[in-house]
Formats: sequence, C-alpha cells, structure tokens
Amino acid sequence: MNNIAIIGSSPVSLIYSILLSKLKISSTIFCGHNFGGSWKNSKLLNYEIPISTHIFMHSNGLKKTFDEIGYSPNNWAIKPFLIDNQYNFLSNFGNNNHSRLGAPILNDCIINFLINKIKNEKNISLKKNTIIDKLIFNKIKDNSNSQNSFSGVIMTCGNRLELFIDEKKIDYESKLFEVHSLSIIAFSKNEAKSCFIHIEGDNTLLREIQSIPLRKDNLLINCKISKLGRGFFIDKIIEEVKSLFKKLFKVDLEIIKFQSNIYNNWRFCYSFDANRFNEIPLLIPGVNNIKDNNMRHIIKNSQDLSKLFSDYDLIIKNTLDKLSNKKYDCRIKIK
Ligand SMILES: Cc1cc2nc3c(=O)[nH]c(=O)nc-3n(C[C@H](O)[C@H](O)[C@H](O)COP(=O)(O)OP(=O)(O)OC[C@H]3O[C@@H](n4cnc5c(N)ncnc54)[C@H](O)[C@@H]3O)c2cc1C
Repeated sequence: MNNIAIIGSSPVSLIYSILLSKLKISSTIFCGHNFGGSWKNSKLLNYEIPISTHIFMHSNGLKKTFDEIGYSPNNWAIKPFLIDNQYNFLSNFGNNNHSRLGAPILNDCIINFLINKIKNEKNISLKKNTIIDKLIFNKIKDNSNSQNSFSGVIMTCGNRLELFIDEKKIDYESKLFEVHSLSIIAFSKNEAKSCFIHIEGDNTLLREIQSIPLRKDNLLINCKISKLGRGFFIDKIIEEVKSLFKKLFKVDLEIIKFQSNIYNNWRFCYSFDANRFNEIPLLIPGVNNIKDNNMRHIIKNSQDLSKLFSDYDLIIKNTLDKLSNKKYDCRIKIK
C-alpha cells in the first residue's frame, strides 16, 4: 500500500496523514481552498485567531490519538461550563478528571501544530490550494499503474467532489450549516482567564464564547452567534458580550477591534452500494458502517473530533483494512 490521497486540510485529514506516516505509508494531502477547514485561522490585529469557537470534548480515542502524534494542548484556566440565558451556571462539560484536552488556541493551536509536524515528515507531501474535481475508482484489470494513480483515498464528509466507481457517477446528499461568529479583541484592567462557555436555551443572542488572554491585558473573545442573534446588529451582540463578562467574571471590557465571520459548513453523504463500498480503498472518517450511511448519521458522527477519533485502535485497524484492498485503483482529476 503506497501513496494515499487525502482530501482537504481539516485536522481530521492532517491527523490521518500523520497516522499513516507512523504506519510507514506515504500520503499526498490535497488541501482545498480553505486550509484548516472549519478550524481555519484568520488574522485580527497581529494575532492568528480561529474563525470560530473550538473545544476538544473528551474521548479516550482522541486523547490517545493526541498522545500518539505528540500533541498536548493547554488546559482551560477555568473549566468549560454551561450557563442559561440569564447567565446562571448550570454545569461543567467537555473535560473529565483524567483528561487534559483543552484549548486549541493561539500558541497551541492544533492547525499550527499539525502543519509543523507534517513539514518534518518525509512520507507526507502537501499540495496547497489544490481542489479535487473528480475521484475515479476503477477495478484493476492488469498490473499497469496509470499516472496520477493512488492506491487509496481518505476523504472526509466536508469534501465536495464528483465520485465515479467503475464509470458510474455516485450521487450524494448535502447539507449546509451557516456558522456566524464574532471575534473581539478587548482590553481589560482585571485579569481574565481562558475559558469556554456554552449558553443553553432559545432566547439568547450567543451560543458559545471562548475567552483567551493575550499580551498586555488584551483578551480575545471568540463568539458563536445563535440563530436568534443573527437578526441583530453587531453592536447589540457586543453589548451582550460585555454584560456577560461583567456578570460572570466582574470584568469590564474595552473593545479594541472586532471582526465578524460567516463560515459555510457543508456536509456530504454519498449513496454507495454497500458491497461496492467495502471493496474500494476509500476511507471516510465518521462513516464506519455503510448501512448507516445517511445524512443524519453523517452529521452526528463527523461533527466532533472526539467522536471521529473515539477509538484509536479501531481507526488503525479500519485504515489498514480499508486501504489495503488492491482490487481498485484511483485516479484523481484536479480542478
Ligand atoms: C465553525 C465550526 C466550528 C467547529 N468547532 C469544533 C470544535 O470545537 N471541536 C470539534 O471537535 N469539532 C468542531 N467542529 C466540527 C468540524 O466539522 C470537525 O472538527 C472537522 O473540522 C470536520 O472536518 P471535515 O474534513 O469533515 O470538514 P471541514 O472542516 O469542513 O474541512 C473540509 C476540508 O475539505 C476541503 N475540500 C472540500 N472539497 C474539496 C475538494 N474537492 N478538493 C480538495 N479539498 C476539498 C476544504 O477546503 C476543507 O479544507 C466545528 C465545525 C465548524 C463548522
């Protein structure tokens, strides 16, 4: 098994390339148009910041995956917590006593870690800004290997492309989630700590807040705006953030700069024939069982790293099983 094509550059794709390299399997990552996928960074003042809020929920598999690839994110200074729409504390979440999974942010941002790691791996090559137009699997008739041919492919549910098996185009369903976020850099005289807050309920403008101390008493506040909040002007949302910090942390914020972002999160689900899918060397993280291959399951399984990497040993087994199938070869057409 050699040279696996990996589509996209979300942490899912990048982590898989490192896992393959540990198994001495080489891969080529076709990064797509937005490096990092949903974990993509943007610049605000001189800081590289995530465009949306991020948290690692705990799973034994994700912890083991991080241990295996040598990634160790800092813990939150204050444990992540849930509040209601009146800002009352409800409970803690996203961590457990054995876990150190915390803040995927700034200095220990997972995307920066993965890219540095990949740079030092001989087995991984990176094709930046490259979009795959078509992925074509054909049964191998003789031993000849065509150019641009890969022995297997890892694609994620965030990849949009045309897929052909034995010259038949495979249909797909898709679903778009629009994520609206607001990043604020603020000054605060009182010390503010790193934290992740999830707000429950319908009558609230904000859904999640990530607070990250920066240099010189500055603070990055990254917010995910709720469906309700999208109907309001940004000034109103900023007022909401200020009152939330005042009530929860007794912190007065002076806003220095802000930036609003909209991220289009597409999910794709291809309608394979189960027998065929088992034969082709195509691995789709989150799609473990082809019988379960429907949009609801795809969305549930592919939306959280703790779920996607919930069982490390099974991932390694599935990867080897699936990609070592030699009945098909794969050609790719680049846009
Ligand atoms: C705003 C947001 C915040 C999130 N926060 C968290 C979080 O805190 N914790 C968590 O565990 N999960 C989080 N998630 C869930 C997230 O979906 C997963 O963590 C993970 O990013 C899914 O990876 P993916 O590759 O399926 O999709 P995406 O992250 O969407 O990445 C898709 C990638 O594929 C590329 N691509 C698409 N089509 C092609 C093509 N034809 N050719 C080449 N490249 C292509 C894109 O450019 C992109 O790089 C978040 C999701 C969103 C939208």
